Amino acid sequence: MDWFKEVQCRLYHMGMEITHLGSGSAGNSTLLRSDETNVLIDCGFSLKRMEARLRMVDLEPSSIDAILVTHHHSDHSRTALRASKNWGAILHSNLETATRMGWEPMAECRTFGALERIVVSDDISLLPIPVPHDDADNVAVIASNGGGRRAAVVTDLGELTVDLMRHLSGCSHISIEANYDHSRLMSGPYPESLKRRISGRGGHLSNVQTGDALSEIVSERLESIVLCHLSESNNAPHLAESEVLMAMGDRFSGRIGISMQSGPEFSNWLGQSEPERISSRI
Ligand SMILES: [Zn+2]
Ligand SMILES: [Zn+2]
Repeated sequence: MDWFKEVQCRLYHMGMEITHLGSGSAGNSTLLRSDETNVLIDCGFSLKRMEARLRMVDLEPSSIDAILVTHHHSDHSRTALRASKNWGAILHSNLETATRMGWEPMAECRTFGALERIVVSDDISLLPIPVPHDDADNVAVIASNGGGRRAAVVTDLGELTVDLMRHLSGCSHISIEANYDHSRLMSGPYPESLKRRISGRGGHLSNVQTGDALSEIVSERLESIVLCHLSESNNAPHLAESEVLMAMGDRFSGRIGISMQSGPEFSNWLGQSEPERISSRI
């Protein structure tokens, strides 16, 4: 193989594509795809919808190798067990999530511990990092490709931990929730108790919290950001995007995208900031 072909082949081999199949309180699922491996982080839509959205990105559901469920809330876990059985994919969760879902460890799902690396294949491994969220034992996920690049998927947390910040600072791509705009939440229709729960330590991240966190860890290594899990009542894409961009200022030169409930709209690739629109493939 000549030099040019070898470099091309190696770059292709080390690629990882990140596609949100949809994100929000009605369902979440993120596809991580390399040339050999297909992994879903969460499976929170109906099976029919999951399969339709996978086919929108030219993937047969039976090509999914593994499904990692971050926590037991139904917008993340809804059809994970059925999908894993129907598609022949290995289901991964921690023990608390498996217990809350009634999944049988070993027979139905493989359980992982905090910060225990899950090697799905040579070119995708996943590191689960515990995050505070309601009564759930939720995890953020740092996915690594074989070439040393990393992508993060971070949703459903009231605050960022020191451990998580340390891992985020090495990532080329970060998908992170920007759940609510603080003044919209506070002046909105939710009851006081729910407002307190959402904005508390075990709730969700606000636009300001996400902007502050990203401004702390932004570096030249960070190529792309996707804001996700936006609340339809308490947030709006332009508010989330402007808050986060303002917090990072000119230290961020990559691309920012927003994943909405209806996805998938675009894919990001590790190693490039420019996202690819899904519609351009069809
Ligand atoms: Zn959620
Ligand atoms: Zn949740």
